[in-house]
Amino acid sequence: RAKLSGPNRYWFFNRQIHDELIHQHQLAERLQNALRDGELALYYQPQVAAGSGRIENLEALLRWFPKEGGAVSPGEFIAVAERSNLIHRLGDWVLCEACRQKAQWKAMGLGDYRIDINFSGKQVTQVETFKRLEACMEEYELSPRDIGIELTENVLIEADDQVLDTLRRLYHRGMKIAIDDFGTGYSSLSYLKQFPVTALKIDRSFVRDAPSNPSDQAIMAATVFIGHRLGLEVVAEGVENEEQLELVRELGCDLVQGYYHFKPMSATDTQKLLGGLVAVTDKYSG
Ligand code: C2E
Ligand code: MG
Ligand code: MG
Ligand code: MG
Repeated sequence: RAKLSGPNRYWFFNRQIHDELIHQHQLAERLQNALRDGELALYYQPQVAAGSGRIENLEALLRWFPKEGGAVSPGEFIAVAERSNLIHRLGDWVLCEACRQKAQWKAMGLGDYRIDINFSGKQVTQVETFKRLEACMEEYELSPRDIGIELTENVLIEADDQVLDTLRRLYHRGMKIAIDDFGTGYSSLSYLKQFPVTALKIDRSFVRDAPSNPSDQAIMAATVFIGHRLGLEVVAEGVENEEQLELVRELGCDLVQGYYHFKPMSATDTQKLLGGLVAVTDKYSG
């Protein structure tokens, strides 16, 4: 392979950046159409009690199924939406869809599982985001216990006073607010005492290697300790196997979420699962 040097090298890098920008622009355009054409869906991943394995809550995770094929991961298209202003429309769709679904399952008597919604950076800089969440919840006659919020540390420290006041109000009305990907941000722990938070979700990068990595274990143990001392729930993300489950139990995590128990599922599959659980409960209580 020819060594890149001289002017060609710059051409090569410019070309790469250029291609990447075109790619992102096209993706943003396709995403806009996807919203219009109904190609988006919410998937749901259950969170279970670490001890009993009982389903406690559901996390809503956005999926995009382009009609022309070629699935794009949320990691990629949410970043693209963040860089354009599409994230607001996308985020509004997510929160209204989550509320609609929660109301439907509630009406069907499918248990009282809370649905947690993810909010990204730009969404959290606008107080309108949470106003719309409240409006949607009101429209579907939901209580603050029906819907939860997930924010990352980096996003939370960027929130302005107006947003924080809104979050505090929701918190005082009983809404659960979790710090997502806990331990991977660059904020200081002092924010835990200033911000309205009810749970810490230990990032799956710690969980993944913990069985063989004492440093990851130490970080997880410290997170559980500080979380519990502050009266917070501690959730382990990304538990994929028995070994990891054993460990997060031993370390005292309250809740577990990961492929070991459930992968994120379509609304139809989630409904079947919840319906089956209701049927089982009815059998034993009836
Ligand atoms: P997150 O909120 O931390 O969500 C957890 C991610 O880990 C999800 O990826 C989930 O599918 C994946 N996961 C769960 N259990 C396991 C496991 O055992 N092993 C592995 N390898 N992965 C597991 P997903 O669905 O691809 O979402 C990626 C990120 O995209 C989310 O991370 C969240 O930050 C963002 N996101 C997803 N949906 C939304 C949304 O509706 N709005 C916003 N703003 N962001 C979203
Ligand atoms: Mg999340
Ligand atoms: Mg997470
Ligand atoms: Mg994560």
